[in-house]
Amino acid sequence: MILVSACLAGIDCAWDGKNRAALEIRELVDKKLAVAICPEVLGGRTIPRMRTEIKDGSGDDVLNGRANVYDENGKDVTGEFLKGAYAALEIAREYHVKKTILKSKSPSCGIGKIYDGSFEGDLVDGDGVTAALLKRAGIVCQCA
Ligand code: SF4
Repeated sequence: MILVSACLAGIDCAWDGKNRAALEIRELVDKKLAVAICPEVLGGRTIPRMRTEIKDGSGDDVLNGRANVYDENGKDVTGEFLKGAYAALEIAREYHVKKTILKSKSPSCGIGKIYDGSFEGDLVDGDGVTAALLKRAGIVCQCA
């Protein structure tokens, strides 16, 4: 079983209440080859919600307690991101997931590059919080 970002599967769970559907991801879910999850919703974030970014670090730094996630008003939402990441890991274990396809640049799902915390659209190297946790668990993470 593959774990995929729910917004890529066509579920309206992105911060703006829309999806980021990718046909091939949707087909994987329709054929029951993939399970779709939204870590931010699992962590208690609403739909729609304010944009959020990791400031001064990456998802790995958040897991290590060295960086936090903030919304556009400067509210610290790190707890929700950690809760969502661990809930995603639990689901991955339940389904014996070995591979994920996650949404690029997200502070939760991003792999390799994420927004830099300025809300200006700039990117830095690093993974989102959930992607970093799934990688630590030995799950292969690919972005779309
Ligand atoms: S947390 Fe992941 S699955 Fe949820 S909307 Fe953001 S990128 Fe998509």
